[in-house]
Amino acid sequence: MKFSLYLGKYRGIKVFIHWTFSLLLLWIIIANTQSGTPLADTGWTLLFILLIFLCVILHEFGHALTAQKYGIQTKDIILLPIGGLARLEKLPEDPKEELKVALAGPLVNLVIFLLLSIILYFTGINFNFLESPKLDGSSIWLFLASANFFLAVFNLLPAFPMDGGRVLRAVLSFKMSRVKATEIAGGIGQVMAILFVFFGLFNNPILVLIGIFIFLGAQAEVNQTKQHSFLEGFNVGDALMSKFPILAYDAPLQKAVDKLLDGQATHFVVVREDSPIGTLSREGIILGLQEQHALISIEKVTDKNPLKLEMHLPLEEALKKMAAENKKLALVYEGNHFIGILDQENISEFIMVKNALVR
Ligand SMILES: [Zn+2]
Repeated sequence: MKFSLYLGKYRGIKVFIHWTFSLLLLWIIIANTQSGTPLADTGWTLLFILLIFLCVILHEFGHALTAQKYGIQTKDIILLPIGGLARLEKLPEDPKEELKVALAGPLVNLVIFLLLSIILYFTGINFNFLESPKLDGSSIWLFLASANFFLAVFNLLPAFPMDGGRVLRAVLSFKMSRVKATEIAGGIGQVMAILFVFFGLFNNPILVLIGIFIFLGAQAEVNQTKQHSFLEGFNVGDALMSKFPILAYDAPLQKAVDKLLDGQATHFVVVREDSPIGTLSREGIILGLQEQHALISIEKVTDKNPLKLEMHLPLEEALKKMAAENKKLALVYEGNHFIGILDQENISEFIMVKNALVR
């Protein structure tokens, strides 16, 4: 993870802290200094923040280790000023597993709350300070217990993709399709997100950030779930185009321009003696015209490092590879045999057709 400090790892899961976290600490120090807060009090506040984030790490390990039980690895855990994030390699699709993974995080905070409460009960809580609450050596554990209770409750709010929203989606998934459940949970999540932003504007800027984060996250995950469900069960061969426009490698670029203007094709396969040597996109043609001229050979502007896909590869993985390598076109092979192309626009059409059939 870029711009992050590596803290350590446990059971193969690395923990990072994002650089913006230092802004949070800096902000507390500056705000306290300006308001003339004694140095010792600032120290207690900083210690308190660090302890809370330690609890947040434990919360994330609750998710990550439960997921590990179901064979799902976690890429890393990253700490941001607005909270922690366990980046799972994928999400559990079985609602029962999703329910357990989602609940495990808040459960960790509840356990910490209970443990601290028991310790405080036996060591004797001094409630006198509640008249003028102040964070110091005698009250910090009570504050920390309350904070953990708050963390558990806050995370269980049904604001998808927060934990409570995932619980809601899992529960809904018992009764309906995962896509439908995600749409409902996502909708509720976005309404909650707007409320967070609204209340945050008057009370707490961090709540505004969390609201924005939830709003965008809900949208992204609804789209992702839809796409996943439409692509599931299909492989590259299903969306393959076996008829595609070709260009000879030694023809002038003008030939490509003519073909581009003349038909609907926007991507071409460049061939030499019937076998493909690369691809040429509309962007590549235009760039070639700008930087060179129309008489250079097509070979000069060809992308000779095209993405090659096996026809049996799941379509979803193919799409991920194309996105990762920023390619709009891939050459498809069956073994060593070139059989056609996969075009990003074509996959979009494929998804739209599936979408129309489902409704
Ligand atoms: Zn969580």
